[in-house]
Amino acid sequence: MKRPTVVVLGAGYGGLSVITKLQKLVNADDADIILVNKNDYHYESTWLHEAAAGTMAPDAVRYDIGGVLDKGKVNFVQATVENIDTKAQKVITDRSEISYDYLVVGLGFEGETFGIPGLKEHAFSIANVKAARQIRDHIEYQFATYSLEEVKDPSRLTIIVGGAGFTGIEFLGELADRLPELCEEYDVDPKAVRILCVEAAPMVLPGFDEELVEYAVNYLKSKGIEFSIGTPLTEATPEGVKIKKGEDVFEEIPAKTVVWAAGVRGNSIIEKAGFDNMRARIKVDPDLRAPGHNNVFIVGDCALMINAQTERPYPPTAQIAMQQGAHTAHNLVALFKGDELEPFTPDLKGTVCSLGENEAIGEVFGRKITGKKAAMMKKVIDNRALYILGGPGLVFKKGKLNMF
Ligand code: FAD
Repeated sequence: MKRPTVVVLGAGYGGLSVITKLQKLVNADDADIILVNKNDYHYESTWLHEAAAGTMAPDAVRYDIGGVLDKGKVNFVQATVENIDTKAQKVITDRSEISYDYLVVGLGFEGETFGIPGLKEHAFSIANVKAARQIRDHIEYQFATYSLEEVKDPSRLTIIVGGAGFTGIEFLGELADRLPELCEEYDVDPKAVRILCVEAAPMVLPGFDEELVEYAVNYLKSKGIEFSIGTPLTEATPEGVKIKKGEDVFEEIPAKTVVWAAGVRGNSIIEKAGFDNMRARIKVDPDLRAPGHNNVFIVGDCALMINAQTERPYPPTAQIAMQQGAHTAHNLVALFKGDELEPFTPDLKGTVCSLGENEAIGEVFGRKITGKKAAMMKKVIDNRALYILGGPGLVFKKGKLNMF
């Protein structure tokens, strides 16, 4: 019998978890396994806010995919996926077409602008390593230009962060760390810098414990960060943003840097390929297959799963993406053997939100933690992800080892 071809799209947390688990579970002649990814590197999406703020070098956020592959079992194809033809069981890339018997889609997230005018054109999004590097360089350029200008333009030192969710707050924490260095490097008075977080919802970090949220907001305010909560950002322009402060009350804020961190959606390839979807995410069956597609699994941010207790979707996280990836590897092996597939249930261990290098808040195994302890836990979590995908060697090479 012809051995099956498994094609995994995306070498993020989900896709790479499928591959690293599958290569342990199968022999080389059990299946042809192909991994397709745009770049020859994986990046830690959960560290992108550090690269964007400039507290970590963009290179430190990524590592070679080849280093974690068993090349006797997995064939890596560096290509950009352009479409998926589920009828013909083919993936169309910018380089070639790849046929599959089983497909795993782990193409990750894209920024969601909710149709707000000007955001796509005038705001940055912390979407990948290249975008993070661009944000860092842009902020530095604004500081450098301001320091040279004879007539100072204050909007060069105004940074608007749209969204007080997880990504927005983590990015603000890094900016708070980076700012003193930037001011010193470019001879800028820290009082001239303004960082404002604009959030449409009435609260910061929805879903987090109130006491922890208060801790985070107070900490960031103590670092000079301003919050405008319950004020939707209604437009981005080349000059800055417009925010709605009340019924028919709008304020224009001149700002040369606008970073939109208020929403993610799945990968647009999901829409293009014609799957039933909600914002490019597929509401998956309990075994993580796409409804109506018995040979297509969806992992990570492209998968939509409803939490039965809260009746709301699970938030898209690396934690869930990695668990889904490992689970899918087991289910693929079950399919090869003709066994029953197992349903997936997330095993949530907690969440830690960083507020810079040495500050964080979190709920881990049901316990609330703050400050240095939480920051240390965050590094443990970051290193654990490296360990699961690449073993101790990867932790020594790329890990956050400055724990204290
Ligand atoms: P990704 O990790 O995004 O990987 C997708 C992969 O697909 C990438 O390698 C990409 O290059 C590739 N790809 C995309 N399009 C194509 C294409 N057309 N062709 C080929 N390849 C393609 N989650 C947590 O659990 N904890 C956190 O602390 C946390 N912090 C975060 C901080 C930030 C700043 C951000 C942005 C996210 C954070 N998240 C966190 C969320 C987490 O990063 C995502 O949920 C996770 O990355 C999803 O994994 P994934 O495998 O679906 O996609």
